[in-house]
Amino acid sequence: MYWQLVTPLVLVLGLIVGSFLGALTYRIPRGISISDGRSFCPRCKKTIAWYDNIPLVSYIILGGRCRNCRSKISIRYPLIELTTSVLIFLTYVQAIACIGADKNIVCEYFSRFGWWSLPYLWIMIILLVAIFIVDLEKKIIPDEFSLSLFVLAVVGIVIGGFDDFYLRVLFGFLVASFLLFLHLLTGGRGMGLGDVKLALFAPVVLGDWRNVFVWISGSFLVGAVVGTVLIALRRGSFGKPIAFSPFMVISFLLVMFLSDKIRMILPVFL
Ligand SMILES: [Zn+2]
Repeated sequence: MYWQLVTPLVLVLGLIVGSFLGALTYRIPRGISISDGRSFCPRCKKTIAWYDNIPLVSYIILGGRCRNCRSKISIRYPLIELTTSVLIFLTYVQAIACIGADKNIVCEYFSRFGWWSLPYLWIMIILLVAIFIVDLEKKIIPDEFSLSLFVLAVVGIVIGGFDDFYLRVLFGFLVASFLLFLHLLTGGRGMGLGDVKLALFAPVVLGDWRNVFVWISGSFLVGAVVGTVLIALRRGSFGKPIAFSPFMVISFLLVMFLSDKIRMILPVFL
C-alpha cells in the first residue's frame, strides 16, 4: 500500500472536514445557510481570505486574531479542527491495525466492509462531533443529526449482514426508553428529548449487550466526573443543567475504539 502517501492525505482530510464542521455547527443553529457565502470576521465583517482560512495553520500564524481588526478568533475553530482530524486519523490507524485481527467495533466493521468502513465510520464520527458541539453550545440536538445517525447505523447492519439485526434495534429502543423514563422523571431537566432520540443509534452500532451496557453506564460516569470537576471549579452548580449528549458521544467513541480492552478489564460479571 501507499501508506506514505495516504497518511498525510488523511490528516489533511481531517483538518478540512474539521474546518467545515466549525462553520456548519456555527451556522446551522443560527439559521444561516451553509451556502451563504464565505466566512467573515464576526466583528469587522471583513471576508476571510483563503490564506487566512487554512485549518489550524492560519490560527497559529495569526496568533488567534483577525488580520484586519485584531479581534480574537474563537478557540472553538482550532479545537474542532484538531479533534476532528485526530478522530479521523485514529480510525484510519485502527483500521490498518485490524488487518488479520478481529478486535474492537472499528475492526468488526472493517472485517465486513473493508476500506469502505472508513468513509462509513468517518461520517458517523462527523455527525457525533457536530452533535457534541451544537448541544454543548446551544443545548439542542438537531433531529437531522440524530436521525441521520440512526438511519446510518441501521443501513450499516443491513448491508453488513449482521445476523442480530432485531436485537440491536431492540437494544436501541430499550436504552432510549430508559432515557425517556429519566426525562419524564426529572421533568425534562436531567435529560432532553434530543438525548432520547440520539441514544437510539448507539446500541445498533455496538451490538453486544455488554458494549451497550458499558457505553450507557460510561456516559453517566463521564457525566458525573465532568459535573463534579465543573462544580469544584465553580463553573457549574447542582440543578444547573449541562448537556448530556457530549458524554454519550465520548463514551461511544471510547467503546468503539476500546471495546476489546474494556472486555478484558470487566470479565467478572460481563
Ligand atoms: Zn475582524
